Amino acid sequence: MEITVLGCGTSQGVPLVAHDNPGWDRGEPRNWRTRSSIHVVLEGHHVQVDCGPDFRSQCLSCGIREVDTVILTHGHADHVLGMDDLRQFCTNRGGAAIPVYSTDEGLGRLQAIFPYALGKPASSGYVSLDPRLMPSELALPGGGIIRSTLLPHGVDVLGLVFEEPSTGARLAYYTDCKRVPAAARELAMDVDVAILDGLRPDWHPTHMTVAEACEVAEAIRARQAFLTHMTYQVDYGTYSRKLQAGHPRVALAHDGLTLRLGGRGGDSLGRG
Ligand SMILES: [Zn+2]
Ligand SMILES: [Zn+2]
Repeated sequence: MEITVLGCGTSQGVPLVAHDNPGWDRGEPRNWRTRSSIHVVLEGHHVQVDCGPDFRSQCLSCGIREVDTVILTHGHADHVLGMDDLRQFCTNRGGAAIPVYSTDEGLGRLQAIFPYALGKPASSGYVSLDPRLMPSELALPGGGIIRSTLLPHGVDVLGLVFEEPSTGARLAYYTDCKRVPAAARELAMDVDVAILDGLRPDWHPTHMTVAEACEVAEAIRARQAFLTHMTYQVDYGTYSRKLQAGHPRVALAHDGLTLRLGGRGGDSLGRG
């Protein structure tokens, strides 16, 4: 399984525009965060999770050349607004629509923003999306499995656990959540890697704090956890040192981070 963190920033991106961003080191490249999204290659099948406003530039900087399936975790702007840039991926498939799995809320948002992309005939030359309700277990061509659960965030958000049967590798991706309920913890127990919402140090009504994310990482016994959807307040250098001291299995993600799990010669939690 190969995982690329395309973006790990909060909804406005990092740094904030028109703001002083106190405490944030602009000279640290891993502090520049685009909107949160990951790309997962599972048994050779390319799964794109969320397509936010930075999706186009993320594809270019991370070298994303294929998308077979899209999962939209929920319909917020920072996760859905880049869907039109799936256009070339459709063209490369001969115009065939790309399946997009989401919740009722996510599919409703897709219909509201991109009505022209739904139900397009093949080879139309435009973006063509095939909206589908995410099942609790999705079996992908090639044999990969994605299990889903709902996370509370004001709206329901899809929490995703990816499993690659040929290698046994497992990844949990829990972005945009106020907490991780018991069923979601059960689903993610003992994963190789967990990528968790760790918005900022201070309490927030719909996101987990850094400390809350660390508690979840430990409760599910993740071999390695990374925080995502972070604000400028989570300065890369400052918080990497804090986590290293208190939670050595938890680290900050950064845009472009790549992880290879279960390959020949073992895992490489390589930092791309
Ligand atoms: Zn978000
Ligand atoms: Zn959200």
